[in-house]
Amino acid sequence: MKRFLFPLLCVSAFFVNAADYYFTPAQQSALVDKLNSGTLKPGDNIIMRDGTYNNLGTITIDDRGTATDTIKIRAEHPGKAIISGETELKISGSYIELSGLLFNKANAKNLCIIELQGEEGKYGSNCRITNCVMDDCNHPLRSEKAVKGVKPITVSEYWIALHGKNNRVDHCYFANKRVGGLVVQVWLPDSDAVNNHLIDHNLFGFRQPYGGNGAETIRIGNSWSSQSESRTTVEDNVFLHCDGENEIISVKSGYNTVRGNLFFESRGGLVCRHGHNNILQSNTFIGQNLPGTAGIRLINQGHTVYDNYCGRLGDFGLLVRMGVFEKPTPDTDLEKEPLTSYHRAENINIANNSFIDCKVIDLGSGYGDKAPRNVRMTNNYFCNSGNNIRITKPETVMPGLNFIDNRYYWDDRAPMRITGFIPLDSRENTLSAERQRVLKAVQGAGAQWYTPSNDNLKYITDKYNIK
Ligand code: CA
Repeated sequence: MKRFLFPLLCVSAFFVNAADYYFTPAQQSALVDKLNSGTLKPGDNIIMRDGTYNNLGTITIDDRGTATDTIKIRAEHPGKAIISGETELKISGSYIELSGLLFNKANAKNLCIIELQGEEGKYGSNCRITNCVMDDCNHPLRSEKAVKGVKPITVSEYWIALHGKNNRVDHCYFANKRVGGLVVQVWLPDSDAVNNHLIDHNLFGFRQPYGGNGAETIRIGNSWSSQSESRTTVEDNVFLHCDGENEIISVKSGYNTVRGNLFFESRGGLVCRHGHNNILQSNTFIGQNLPGTAGIRLINQGHTVYDNYCGRLGDFGLLVRMGVFEKPTPDTDLEKEPLTSYHRAENINIANNSFIDCKVIDLGSGYGDKAPRNVRMTNNYFCNSGNNIRITKPETVMPGLNFIDNRYYWDDRAPMRITGFIPLDSRENTLSAERQRVLKAVQGAGAQWYTPSNDNLKYITDKYNIK
């Protein structure tokens, strides 16, 4: 038997040999055929030479790499392979990595430009989009630059739709989205929802005000899937001038972690809109008093809000809203108590956060009669020109709030009439801590080969004399 084994091993070794496939823009149709072919092997590289690849159309990559031998689709020189025009990059395989690609003036052929899904329900997992740029990718018929005489299509366009599990988007730069829809949307499937995605070290740049709902930068889940766990992590990203709408990150699922992000002069907030048991930790919000710049808005149950820093926000630093319904149970009639509504804020820990010169700390506003319950605010620091803690309907709301060892300083020295607040003799010096947070957040964020990405970071660091 032994003598037959040797040639067999040789044959299999021959087939697993990884290969590099080079394509130029002139070979675009061969590139599309190769990506669609399902013949890529672990360790294979698709290398796109410099130039513009226009109207790639629909591509479905259904190949499988391995943890140690990913399949890479990359620019030969980061930023020099440009993807424009109608594009729909669908990934249903695994261990596939896109890197160094510049999407500029590309638009979604259907709903998404990049989607971690092939045919319906066939998801990509363990994939990575890294060191890429998507700048000014707007469907011409859906944006404000609609062709004259042609009615704009009002449906939205998604830049990246994450399905599946264990996918990562990192070190990318995104800016100038004008059409409605998400920059990054995380979808939860109906069953086995846990995603475990990681979205980190990206720079989300300017997005102009959209003028309505549906222009969030990141949304994790949807109302209908909001009672499930996504377990997605969004960390160490920078959001600069993300002005699309009043929700920059909309969390609509459970057990997600949003930490270490910097929201700078962005007219919106971080919102736990649906879902429970989310962790918001060590995020920094700097608003420079611009209207609409906001901090953290909380609805639903079991959240941990720890070590966040809100400075000079033109709107709320913290908002804990009234609920309309209780947290749904399996017996809840969702026709009568729809998941799109507001559930009671309950069992929330808000600790070690700083709120400095925010317009308002808003506790208990909004319609509905389900007041916050067992919301514990411990060891937070508040300072402002005057008392900016606004408790709506205190007789209803106060019993559900528990204040412990919070520190405060108002410039007008007005006393607090609530227990659990310790007056200070002067403001705490928070500027060096703020500077440290900003410095940490900008380090390594974005795509370093792309000038606007670096210019955006410099815009921020210049404000702190950080070189
Ligand atoms: Ca919204």
